[in-house]
Amino acid sequence: MQNQSLIEADRDHLIHPVSSFHDHEARGVRLLQSAKGARVTDGEGRELIDGFAGLWCVNAGYGHESIIAAATEQMRRLPYATGYFDLGSEPAIRLASALAMRAPGDLNRVYFTLGGSDAVDSTIRFIRYYWHAKGQPGRDQFISVASGYHGSSTMGAGLTALPAFHHGFGLPLDWQHKIASHDLYRNPLRDDPAALIAASVAELTATVERLGPDRVAAFYVEPIQGSGGVLVPPAGWLRAMRDRCRDLGILFVADEVITGFGRTGPLFACEDEGIVPDLMTLAKGLTSGYVPMGAVMMTEEVYQTIAGGAGSRAVGHGHTYSAHPVSAAVALEVLALYEGGLLDNGRIMGARLQAGLAGLSDHPLVGDVRGRGMLAAVELVTDKVKKTPLPPEMSPATRLFDRAWQAGLVLRSFPQGVFGYAPPLCCTAEDIDAIVDRTRQVLDQTL
Ligand code: PLP
Repeated sequence: MQNQSLIEADRDHLIHPVSSFHDHEARGVRLLQSAKGARVTDGEGRELIDGFAGLWCVNAGYGHESIIAAATEQMRRLPYATGYFDLGSEPAIRLASALAMRAPGDLNRVYFTLGGSDAVDSTIRFIRYYWHAKGQPGRDQFISVASGYHGSSTMGAGLTALPAFHHGFGLPLDWQHKIASHDLYRNPLRDDPAALIAASVAELTATVERLGPDRVAAFYVEPIQGSGGVLVPPAGWLRAMRDRCRDLGILFVADEVITGFGRTGPLFACEDEGIVPDLMTLAKGLTSGYVPMGAVMMTEEVYQTIAGGAGSRAVGHGHTYSAHPVSAAVALEVLALYEGGLLDNGRIMGARLQAGLAGLSDHPLVGDVRGRGMLAAVELVTDKVKKTPLPPEMSPATRLFDRAWQAGLVLRSFPQGVFGYAPPLCCTAEDIDAIVDRTRQVLDQTL
């Protein structure tokens, strides 16, 4: 198909995720045709730097022949194996044990999904099962954090705190509760991290007390909030929340769908604070976006409790494509690449990215630069002292995205003028410098 016919066919048939259906029809699709390393080529043959690794997922970068070979070989040998009926495939079993060996503490048990949303959804089901098994079925209330994102499944979207994921859907929401975000930029406690941590711990405690000590099942958190605008909690926040969940007797779930697989430096961001969650969700960097896959990891205690509750009955939770052998083969190869140098390169390039973006702070439009490793955001303001957000009419997210695109840079443009960055870990110094330079170009054009 020629590009023009593709654009028309897209307009007529393809529903894009999280898009305004009307606006998309008016704007049309922006074709991507190929990619290599950290660079993508658009429908007109222009090369751009992918400063967002697709959708914070292509952590290894594009075009790794060894990943392609692993997928091809697995497709040839055994393209599909169900995990039902006690069946299994070698790559899935090897991947589960590789993750168990590397995950914090005794997160030894892995259930594979197709992506992040169904991983989060699976945790909700497993957690409800866990509390039933413990004889506490009344624990059916869940707590998460304002500005958080936990996918768009019917239940997971309830934990998500971004209005677009609730508006118009009429979701059941009477089981979920939010505590305030740890967002530092406009926080009066910005210069007093200990007070901010204490406030979050106190709010979590008060929420559990308000709901009733035997009503709350779990607390969900992203180690760094991604879709909320890359919001980084102060050091010690995650550990304090984890500890308080233990004191309160509720489960602590780390949603590492974005932060996993080297995005912040280590394999899992929980390692940054040396904590062990009760459950952890993974996706994106697990297969580096080459094929779909997500995962739920749980501690031995959670697993054994569910097992005890089920007895000889089947735990009725399953997907046709759970532990897909091709996805597992890809994930194993991606893991080998991370450990064969990409994690190290990501740490070096992450420091360069953070320093480069921090250098933009002198720009009149830059109010805040934040992030960790290869995860960052630049927040634009019209008044640095008052921290006035960019009015949407001045520069709508799509226009800022367009400007970056024209400058040869793919980034995430959040509403209210926040740029998000999550480049592939394979970036060279030249790629990182170009991301920073092109951002300055976009800022200059936005003045
Ligand atoms: N959890 C977090 C923290 C995410 O960032 C995302 C996606 O961005 C999800 C869950 C949902 O993952 P998916 O889009 O693969 O369903």
